[in-house]
This record gives sequence, C-alpha cells and structure tokens, in this order.
Amino acid sequence: MIVAAHRQERPWHGERLGASGPLAPPPAYAADCYFCPGNARVSGARNPHYRDVLVFDNDHPCVGPDAPRELEPPAGIYRNAPANGLARVVCYSPRHNVTLAELEVAEIERVLGALRDQYVDLGSRPEVNHVLVFENKGEVVGVSNPHPHCQIYATNFVFKTIETEAVLSRRYLKEHGRPLFQDIIGSERDDGRRVIVENASAIAFLPYFARYAYECYVAPKATHASLAGLNAGEMQDLALALKVLLVRYDNLWRMPFPYVMTLHQAPTDGADHSGFHFHVECHPPLRKPHLLKYLAGPEIGGGNFLGDTLPEEKAAELKGVSDVHYAALHG
Ligand SMILES: [Zn+2]
Ligand SMILES: [Zn+2]
Repeated sequence: MIVAAHRQERPWHGERLGASGPLAPPPAYAADCYFCPGNARVSGARNPHYRDVLVFDNDHPCVGPDAPRELEPPAGIYRNAPANGLARVVCYSPRHNVTLAELEVAEIERVLGALRDQYVDLGSRPEVNHVLVFENKGEVVGVSNPHPHCQIYATNFVFKTIETEAVLSRRYLKEHGRPLFQDIIGSERDDGRRVIVENASAIAFLPYFARYAYECYVAPKATHASLAGLNAGEMQDLALALKVLLVRYDNLWRMPFPYVMTLHQAPTDGADHSGFHFHVECHPPLRKPHLLKYLAGPEIGGGNFLGDTLPEEKAAELKGVSDVHYAALHG
C-alpha cells in the first residue's frame, strides 16, 4: 500500500457515474422483482410472503453442486481441481426499497443471526471448507436488482484473502501469543483518528492500511472466529456499529453509498483457527461522488494499491456526518 494523497486534485476527465442525477426512488414492492414477497423467481419457485429475512438457493449459482467432478488435467506446469459448493441468496427485508443502512438495529441483528445460522449449517458439512458472505451494493459494483440482499458461497476451497488471513493469524498467535487482529484494534484505538464508532463490544474503523479511500472494518472487540461465537449482547453491538458506519457512508454524499461488503469468518476446514478474528470489511469503490477508484498500472500492473487520499482525512469525513440517515429525516 502506497499513499500519494497529493494526487487527489489532479484533473479528471474520466467517467462520472450517474452524473445525470438520482433516479426516482423504487417502490416498496416491485412486481418484476425476483426477491419480493410472493413473486416467482427465475427457477419458477415462488417466494413466501416473508416478514423479515429470506434465504434460498441461488437460481444462477457461480458455484453449484452440478460443477464438473472429473477434470481434464492441463498441460505443462498447470494444475486444476474441481471447485464446487453451493450458493445462496439472503434477502434482508421484504421491502424492496430499503438498504441495510436503513434497517432498524433489531432488523440488522436478525440478518446477522440468519448469516450465523447459515455459517454453522453450511460450514458443518464435510465438503464445505469455507463460507463466504458478501454483499455487492450499487450499480457501480454490478448490482442490477436493488432489493436488499447478500450472497453466500459455501465452497470446497478457501478464498484466497481468507486463506492468507488464516495463515497470518495462526503465525502471529504462535509468535506473539496474541491474536493479530487484537493488536490491530489496539493500534487503532491508541491512535483514535481512524475509529469511526465504538461501543461496549464492537468497533468500526478505517484501518491504517486501507486500500480504498473509505474502506472500513467492523468487528467485535473480543476474538471470535465467526459470528457463531458472539453472544446476544455482542450481536446487538455489532449490528449497531455496522448500522452507524453504513448510515455515515450514505450521509457523506447524501446518496446510497456503493460498496462490496464481505464477512471474513474462519474457514470451516477443520484446522485450528483460534487466532482468527471475525470481521466485516467494507470496500467502497468511489473516492468522490460519482467518481470510481480505477485500478490501473500500480494496482493491476504492479500489485500495490496507490492511495489517493490520507486515511485520517477520510475517517474524519465519516466521523463528521450524522448518525441519523438522511432519508429518515424526510420520512
Ligand atoms: Zn424486491
Ligand atoms: Zn479480512
């Protein structure tokens, strides 16, 4: 990671996303939405008239049980292995026109509870070595359906970033006797400038090593390998910290803030992950309203992120806006 904050004001002639202005807000129910209550999905299955959270198998799975089992071995030095698993969709709410940021804390808690149950259920299957939960939010990250939802990939392989985190967490615990993430939280709290919100048992911060301008982590303060380790109070505090962060994102430019959000939970591969500290990562691709952070020479070509902004300044922006969602002020 390289910080070059003086580049922020360089002239920009690139694409400005959605510069024509916001579209009309979508309705609470959309007859053509595959995720709204009572509607038919692509598979023909019909959604129940659900009241809070709905979980179902993805009708267009990227990883599915029908993946090829026998692969032709590649020539030369290359290797391959069958990737399989299953993919699910989790709708946060029956309401088509809300985002996670706009849900009540109790509703976010129910979403987290459903994700915990999925991790436990899917992760206990012998063929599943990892459960990845992620939300793509906003058209700039390729989301066509605004109905609030996230996805789950339960796979026979561990995604690379989590594999790296698991290896480093194990090594750090062995060498230092403390979980790595505890020392990250400690460093962020000692400095304080990048802590966005903190309550009794949860914390949200824009880490020193953030790659994107507004990249933030949300985590319980105690080390738990997954959501399954959190007690009721910790779940509530985590939901609250997540809510505050997401509301501040939206309030920053008074627009729904696009992001890729992932839950980093320990692999379910049977290895010892006692040093793994569950956390939520939010990676917003915008660095200014309607202005994407493009990955180019340094990132794609060189393998290091070039930061156009100072993390302390971006954290100060997030700390400077209200905890009350702008849409609620007009509602
Ligand atoms: Zn919908
Ligand atoms: Zn992580």
